[in-house]
Formats: sequence, structure tokens, C-alpha cells
Amino acid sequence: MNSSARGATRRLPRRRAESGRPLSSAAPSPKAFRETLGLFATGVSVIATEVDGQTHAMTANAVSSLSLDPMLVLFCPAKRARFSQLVPRASGFSINFLREEQEALSTYFAGVWKDPAPPRPRVVLEGCLASLICGKRDVHDAGDHWLVTLEVRAVHRGIEPLKPLLFYRGKYRRMDAKDGAAAPDIANTADEPVQMYYHD
Ligand SMILES: Cc1cc2nc3c(=O)[nH]c(=O)nc-3n(C[C@H](O)[C@H](O)[C@H](O)COP(=O)(O)OP(=O)(O)OC[C@H]3O[C@@H](n4cnc5c(N)ncnc54)[C@H](O)[C@@H]3O)c2cc1C
Repeated sequence: MNSSARGATRRLPRRRAESGRPLSSAAPSPKAFRETLGLFATGVSVIATEVDGQTHAMTANAVSSLSLDPMLVLFCPAKRARFSQLVPRASGFSINFLREEQEALSTYFAGVWKDPAPPRPRVVLEGCLASLICGKRDVHDAGDHWLVTLEVRAVHRGIEPLKPLLFYRGKYRRMDAKDGAAAPDIANTADEPVQMYYHD
């Protein structure tokens, strides 16, 4: 990133969306909201916790890194999910990033099929791409979901090949083997103002 771009707030000309329709300030329909958010590709995780000696796990992609210092992440369980009933009593969680060949685990822990059940997960799901072991920090009300922030206490990386399961436009996907260009090293820009783009 060059120095003029970094730290500057840049005003962009009012543009038309890719589809040719003008960018509108009207509230989107739920369908448009879901379809648009579906364009934001994510990985897939299984989040597990233990309460009263019982583990419970659910599939989630509303997971994000949040802070480097302290090391925080967040996840967002739906208020109607059984998992959410355990959040007030849970002190710790594992977030397990799935590998591309673990699609069936994602579907299972989304409650879509029941039989045959995979081995009961321990607090860390074995064989994953990577896992974060976290302690609960805060729970925030967020519409029909809770936003749960977690302190990362330990990280585990799985063995190679480290190929993630992806979720995009409502379907599981695999990563293209082609590498893109290296992204800017955001870990080294913590002391600089965030670059922001906005429309009139
Ligand atoms: C790709 C993807 C991303 C998703 N992202 C999110 C998200 O970010 N937030 C969100 O709220 N929902 C998300 N969902 C939906 C969510 O996974 C389901 O709605 C899930 O069923 C909600 O959790 P629950 O606790 O109510 O599920 P339950 O139905 O209680 O549990 C899910 C399944 O896991 C089984 N299970 C749970 N614990 C164990 C255990 N210890 N041993 C064996 N089996 C067990 C249950 O028997 C059930 O079959 C996502 C689904 C998918 C497919």
C-alpha cells in the first residue's frame, strides 16, 4: 500500500452496483440480505463447549477475529439455537476450523442429519484444520443472535495439507489451488489509522 493511500480517507464517486442498479439506501429484503451476505466467502467451524460434563457443538460461520492485543475472537449463535441456552453457563469454548473433507461434520453439527453420529466431540474436535481454545469474555445482544466475544488461550494447528472447507452462496466449496498475490501485512499497520472508503 503506498503512503498516500494509507491513513487517508478517500471519497469515492457515487457508483452503480455491478448489476447496473444504482446503490440504494432502501432497506433490503431478507432474501437480498441473505444472498448478498452469501457473497462473503467464509470458512466453516464447529464450536464446542462443555457444560455439566456434557459437550455440545454446533456448526458456525459467523466467526471472526476481533483483536490482536488482547487476542479476541467472536462468534454469533442464533438465540433460538440450543447452543445459546448453554452460553450463560459455559466458561470456555473451542472453535474448530474444518478441513475440506469434513463437510459431513459441518452438516451433522448443523443438525441436518442424525445417523450415523460421528464420535462425540471432545472439547477440541480432532483432525481439524486448526482449533482455538477460548475463555468467554462478553455476550452482547445482537438482533436474533448473540454476539459472544472470547479470549484466545491456546491455538492448535493441524497437520498438512491445510485445506479449509469454505462456504459461499449457500454451498460448500473447496479452495482453488492457485495462489493470489500476498495481501498487505495488517499485523504491521496496527499503529496507523484505518483506511476508509465511503460514498456520498
Ligand atoms: C455452513 C454453516 C454455517 C452456520 N453458521 C451459523 C452461525 O454462525 N450461527 C448460527 O447460529 N447458526 C449457524 N448455522 C446453523 C447451525 O449450525 C444450526 O442451526 C445448529 O443446529 C444450531 O445449533 P443447535 O445447538 O440448536 O443445534 P442442535 O440441533 O442441538 O445440534 C446440532 C447437531 O449436533 C449434534 N450434537 C451436538 N452436540 C453433540 C455432541 N456432543 N455429540 C454428538 N452430537 C452432538 C446434535 O445431536 C445435532 O444433530 C450454520 C450452519 C451451516 C451449515
